[in-house]
Amino acid sequence: MGKTFEIINLGGLAGRSIKCLICNMTSYNTNDVEKEYCGNCNEFHNVLGARREQMTDTNTELTEWSRKLAHDIDIAMEDGMNEFGLSIAIEDHVRISLPVLQRIIDQEKQNSLSRNILDFLS
Ligand SMILES: [Zn+2]
Repeated sequence: MGKTFEIINLGGLAGRSIKCLICNMTSYNTNDVEKEYCGNCNEFHNVLGARREQMTDTNTELTEWSRKLAHDIDIAMEDGMNEFGLSIAIEDHVRISLPVLQRIIDQEKQNSLSRNILDFLS
């Protein structure tokens, strides 16, 4: 799992700080550094990391699904499939992907950070 933070040690009075790689905020609060916490994201970095991992899995799944859909449409076209047959092939894909889409919607609802995470990933 890739880290979602960076510890910066300036030494001396400045001491250590923690930079959140999700929102880019740097905190000099020793508690934040110790506990690997981001006060801006309002979350511990182990949680942020797990969430990012989950988003990555979902993105991979979606990419794979789109690729397969494009492939199946190509085959359907080559087979001279009529519009009706094609729509059934597409519907099948949509039906299979519904649980994935539902999961993304759920994530969006409970995860206000998803935009930051998506930005981070791109
Ligand atoms: Zn943050």
